[in-house]
Amino acid sequence: MANVEHCFDKMTTNPASAKQSDPVKDSDDSTKTLKECFNQMNTCKSDYFPPKVAYIFSDSLLQWSNFGLKVRQRGKLVHGLIEAYGLTKHMRIVSPKKATFDEMAEFHCRNYLQFLESINKFDDEEKYSEEAEQFGLSYDCPTEKGVFNYVSHIAGSTIEAARCLVDKENPCQIAINWFGGWHHAHRDSASGFCYVNDCVLGILELRKTFTRVLYVDLDLHHGDGVEEAFAVTSKVFTVSFHKLLPGFFPGTGSIDDVGFGKGIHHCVNVPLMDGIKDVEFVALFKRIMSEVIDVFAPEAIVCQCGADGIAGDPMNSFNLTPQSLTSCVRYFTTLKVPLLLLGGGGYNFCNTSKTWTLITAAVIGKKLSPNIPDHKYYITYGPSYELTVDPGNRKDLNSYENIRSIYKKVLENLSQLRAK
Ligand SMILES: [Zn+2]
Repeated sequence: MANVEHCFDKMTTNPASAKQSDPVKDSDDSTKTLKECFNQMNTCKSDYFPPKVAYIFSDSLLQWSNFGLKVRQRGKLVHGLIEAYGLTKHMRIVSPKKATFDEMAEFHCRNYLQFLESINKFDDEEKYSEEAEQFGLSYDCPTEKGVFNYVSHIAGSTIEAARCLVDKENPCQIAINWFGGWHHAHRDSASGFCYVNDCVLGILELRKTFTRVLYVDLDLHHGDGVEEAFAVTSKVFTVSFHKLLPGFFPGTGSIDDVGFGKGIHHCVNVPLMDGIKDVEFVALFKRIMSEVIDVFAPEAIVCQCGADGIAGDPMNSFNLTPQSLTSCVRYFTTLKVPLLLLGGGGYNFCNTSKTWTLITAAVIGKKLSPNIPDHKYYITYGPSYELTVDPGNRKDLNSYENIRSIYKKVLENLSQLRAK
């Protein structure tokens, strides 16, 4: 039986056809081959399918996740729904340790971490507000008692997830940490609700084993902190699909930003406009990712699955449904490389819970009932009590020409790498 890897090879060894094909229509031969791969996933018996999946969870992590200003109480809804559907029975539940100061210092500046440690016990922000501002600790990243405990838990959870993928005795093929994905934090400062960049720390952990790691960011916002961390290396390839509009945070992620120095052309940015829908998003994603994977051949993939582009999010921007992010993640599962899935944004908590529950089910190969099961938080899912999220009526401002031009520019960037 042809395995999935073979199928994917077949698809990607024909870059010429991909280049000429339509980036937003999912109907050419290379995509058909990909669909065959998806179908084969269910019947393919190999050491990857069904994959061993690690699920990062502990009561302490759940409790500390409420420190995040905009996501208070989100963790319990996400975990509650995953548990209500019985999905935890099919995964290895891994209770993470807190990250140590030195583990976080593998990316973050020691003086930033020392400051977080020094204010950990204080609850009077005025005592240290001047210095705090230098470290980005104001506005959307205010500090409260326990900030260092919080960052240690979040950083530790993603480092632990990465370790599950490289465990010498019993590795998992997929690790899920819905408490992680804080992609805006910089080396020496907090930014955009992110105090510690667990995505970067997870990638650095994977880099101890793998030479080439691919980071893909599906959040509505540009994955600036991660891109910046690896902009000058050719060992980590970053791709971010996001909204880019003047005044929209963080304001970076232009199509022309392709990395620097040794990292030049190892960065792809896909700036989109409001209203993008599943069909265009997934088709563009598959086109771009097949090219990136063909040229970079990653040994491991980290995917940030921020759900703030899903219809109904207070960010009110993209018009996606959980189906799009699930399709993107499912695509990665066909590649047969270790996969780390992280959370991120997502401020409509019900829709975020539905999205991450559907992704969790997809990677372990379980179908879910369309009706939300009765559980502790059932009432939150009213009035429909359904798992689906319908797209809204907002206008799609992404023209066909724009999408085609993005795709063309990405191919030009990658052609520089192919030429090397
Ligand atoms: Zn976001």
